Amino acid sequence: MSENLIIIGSGPAGLTAAIYAARANLKPLLFEGSQAGGQLMLTTDVENYPGFPDGILGPDLMDQMRKQAERFETRIETVDVTRVDFSSRPFRVWVGTDEHHAEAVIISTGASARWLDLPGEERLRGRGVSACATCDGFFFRERQIVVVGGGDSAMEEAMFLTKFASKVTIIHRRDEFRASAIMAKRALDHPKIEVVWNTVVEEMLGEDELTGIRIRNLETGATAEMKTDGLFVAIGHTPNTELFQGQLEMDEVGYLTLRGDGSTGTSVDGVFAAGDVADAIYRQAVTAAGTGCQAAIDVERWLHQE
Ligand code: NAP
Repeated sequence: MSENLIIIGSGPAGLTAAIYAARANLKPLLFEGSQAGGQLMLTTDVENYPGFPDGILGPDLMDQMRKQAERFETRIETVDVTRVDFSSRPFRVWVGTDEHHAEAVIISTGASARWLDLPGEERLRGRGVSACATCDGFFFRERQIVVVGGGDSAMEEAMFLTKFASKVTIIHRRDEFRASAIMAKRALDHPKIEVVWNTVVEEMLGEDELTGIRIRNLETGATAEMKTDGLFVAIGHTPNTELFQGQLEMDEVGYLTLRGDGSTGTSVDGVFAAGDVADAIYRQAVTAAGTGCQAAIDVERWLHQE
């Protein structure tokens, strides 16, 4: 039997696609993955998702979206897709040795923020350590914050954080930024931003919340402890697209390439993408949900015109 629609991934993009597709009577099958819920499962308070004036915890928001998708009879399976074949239709999707067929597929496998993998980092995530200034900057009013990285993301995060923080220190491992000249200049000229060059963070300190970091100067080898209330890791994201290598067009980083006609269609007719997996720019829960809705509408139209 061939499914109308298989959705791979269960962040705001996948679950919103499921809600729309299920309400359009497509009876979608959603593989939520063993790390269900996506990046919001790693955050605490979400204050910028419309409809929750008092904020909502990331995992609670995902739980509500999941319930809403199930209410309209989305079938959700908590398994990882292990292989796909989009070379002919129906498309083939494997979970281990189980083979599934579908007329259309929505990919919403998201992206993962890259972390430093340092002692203390995992324990203190959401407790002073973050990878998203837009999400968490607000909690650091009049505090001292460190941003790690030297690319455009780091510059953008640092600039954004100056709205709240009393001081932002960018720690970069080299003596020049990778960021575009204009964004680097903006950060370097900002009165609240200071840069510490040729330096890496070696440890994040604090039990229940971040109190400081241990840093090492790569030129002199000298280590020091630095007090900070917040640490934003801005060393890039990795789209979760390994599964689709050789099947779908992607850019050099691995983000899925869309057709450029305003739809969510990928390089293969009938395969659509929603959320961070095809978005290196906005990366917000609400934009992911928005493109999930678009993808479901695109699928519905595509199936009808076939
Ligand atoms: P990126 O350009 O790859 O920069 C990553 C930065 O993190 C680099 O400076 C790198 O250092 C540093 N880094 C990587 N691993 C590290 C580690 N383990 N420890 C310490 N530092 C580490 O990533 P990005 O800034 O996220 O940008 C990704 C893409 O999105 C770029 O094409 C960028 O132009 C684009 N972007 C554009 C905008 C905008 O235009 N508004 C905003 C954000 C992103 P090195 O320099 O030493 O390698």
